[in-house]
Amino acid sequence: MRTAQPLASNSQDQRRRTSDRRLDLLSVVVPCYNESDGLERLYAALTPVLESIAPNHEIILVDDGSRDDTFTVARRLAAADSRVKAVRFARNFGKEAGMAAGLRHASGDAVLLMDADLQHPPEVIPEMLDRWRDGIDMVIAVRRDRGTDSWPRRMISLAYYRVFQAMSEVRIPRGAGDFRLFDRVVVDAIASLPERNRFMKGITSWVGFRQECLPFDVGVRATGRSAWGLLGLVRYAWDGLTSFSTLPLRIWSVLGIVIAGFAAFYGIWLVVRTTVFGIDVPGYASLMVSTLFLGGVQLISLGVLGEYVGRIFLEVKKRPIYLIADRVGLDAPESDADGSD
Ligand code: UDP
Ligand code: MG
Repeated sequence: MRTAQPLASNSQDQRRRTSDRRLDLLSVVVPCYNESDGLERLYAALTPVLESIAPNHEIILVDDGSRDDTFTVARRLAAADSRVKAVRFARNFGKEAGMAAGLRHASGDAVLLMDADLQHPPEVIPEMLDRWRDGIDMVIAVRRDRGTDSWPRRMISLAYYRVFQAMSEVRIPRGAGDFRLFDRVVVDAIASLPERNRFMKGITSWVGFRQECLPFDVGVRATGRSAWGLLGLVRYAWDGLTSFSTLPLRIWSVLGIVIAGFAAFYGIWLVVRTTVFGIDVPGYASLMVSTLFLGGVQLISLGVLGEYVGRIFLEVKKRPIYLIADRVGLDAPESDADGSD
């Protein structure tokens, strides 16, 4: 799908599309929230792989307002290896904000996004980079099975993907997470999107370009625990749906038309019945049922309307996606029109 025009000029676009891409710098962006126990392990696993494929690389650790000493560990790693850079948020802004910040600070020709908990195995990176060299603009690592998830979560995830695909025009490959490799053009395109509500899975599909999936086996979380509770997942799912579909708004018009149609026929029938058979007073039950049902439907539709109005409110306030408290080895990116500092 190619909904968006690439922001790069045509000649630049052409150059990117050739199959022999030059990699001067590879950026790896890692959002971290309470990952102090795992960071060193991540660094130890990641660096040998990166050294073999792209000696000239940078690792950007985005500390998403951790409550443990993630940033101290990041600073220590950065002091020992200048290729490690770090950003610290003023508070926890969420993984989506962390990824947005990382992408904005990354200056590589290719930018890799991965989790800090080693669930995204570094061994897959060389293969992803090969695909990029072949001319793919976005390599999406897709998990083979969700064996590490509990079955209710698997079920909910499957149902959600189905609903999302049915309601939104944006296609999200099933099993696709945030383990992705982007070409510079894609990173610039994503950074240029002004919306505050960052649903990365949707945004990355929406921008288009040449995308390819690469299956991988998801690892078990190395240390710590997942920051996602059930409520968090539900909120994330709802954010995603409402950011990329207006169907929840439109559905009420359809329902209204259907109910009004039925009501009209029922009204005609009532008039006919009253004139032919006389007035029939009992009808309390049907009145109650229809009043309550319609009242309920109206409240739901108002609620959905409110959700979208709330979202518009959040967007027009133009608050930055994140606030940065500290940077190590990085300057503020020029494109940071958000005034995040
Ligand atoms: N993360 C983050 N901010 C948050 C929650 C998570 O930056 O508010 C990071 C976390 O440190 C990890 C990645 O996002 O690197 C994935 O988080 P997690 O492992 O908790 O999610 P799961 O693997 O269960 O989807
Ligand atoms: Mg994880």
